[in-house]
Amino acid sequence: MKILIAEDDTTSRLLFSATLRKLGHTVTAVEDGHEAWKAWQQGEYPLLISDWMMPNIDGLQLCRMIRGEPGLQYTYVILLTSLDSKGSYLEGMDAGADDFITKPFDEEQLAARLRVAERILGLHNRLHIQATHDHLTGVWNRGAIMAYLQKELERGSRQGTCISVIVADLDHFKRVNDTYGHPAGDEVLQEAARRMGLALRGYDRIGRYGGEEFLITALGGDGSQAEALAERVCCSIRAEPVNSRFGKIPMTVSLGVATGYGQSEDAGMLISAADEALYRAKKAGRNRVETSTRKV
Ligand code: GH3
Ligand code: MG
Ligand code: MG
Ligand code: MG
Repeated sequence: MKILIAEDDTTSRLLFSATLRKLGHTVTAVEDGHEAWKAWQQGEYPLLISDWMMPNIDGLQLCRMIRGEPGLQYTYVILLTSLDSKGSYLEGMDAGADDFITKPFDEEQLAARLRVAERILGLHNRLHIQATHDHLTGVWNRGAIMAYLQKELERGSRQGTCISVIVADLDHFKRVNDTYGHPAGDEVLQEAARRMGLALRGYDRIGRYGGEEFLITALGGDGSQAEALAERVCCSIRAEPVNSRFGKIPMTVSLGVATGYGQSEDAGMLISAADEALYRAKKAGRNRVETSTRKV
């Protein structure tokens, strides 16, 4: 596990680091709360072990600051207390600490506490995945892709960068259900999501927007990259029929592309521009890409 340790006492810091490394963990050790805050913001640390009493920012403050920034990943926080420390556990828990270890620490007890941390983090991870992913296709669900789009639109308007959205809607999908049955339709959806995923580049994201509709986001560029991406998706869906348990099912998709130029943080406007383009693609005979000319 990737562990961040903040401890101003050098001996204790070295001892903790060595023990944690011996237990197989990857450790970053810093000597005060300020350094810890900087390190935490830069890297994703599932676990923070922090001394309570530290100069600048103490363990309690650090804990509150971390809890004030609910990121994608939960950080499990263990506070270190001295036997003679005046701080109360209640105060630590109120600040958002998950557990406490008394110094000087016992190696076996530390290992046991870390197992608890791993168990809780594992549960947290599973819940997080369930809450953000579509369970049929495995891609992000609507809530997750919309939250991501909103965050990126806000960043785009600060930095003046482009964000494109692609709305992809499978063609005549109702017929697949009607002809081959709903389970076959499910398989087509899974395969369509898989093929779309393969067409993406590093910073592109995909989510299931509705029944047979997917939303893809593409960052940066000038919109032409998003159009090229939409064309790749279109090609990969029609390239060959879906080889389902119920037979080979031919499939096509229509896509609408819209690009925001960092002027607006309104996800709804961008998506409705892409929707309009999608509507044109459907009207023009499906199995194609249309791009919005609207300036969003
Ligand atoms: P168009 O080309 O105009 O988009 O036609 P369409 O048939 O794809 O669109 P329509 O909106 O009429 O039908 C979408 C169908 O998608 C209806 C719905 O039953 C089906 N659908 C939605 N979610 C699921 C799902 O999770 N599994 C399956 N098998 N079908 C689904
Ligand atoms: Mg200290
Ligand atoms: Mg639809
Ligand atoms: Mg459709």
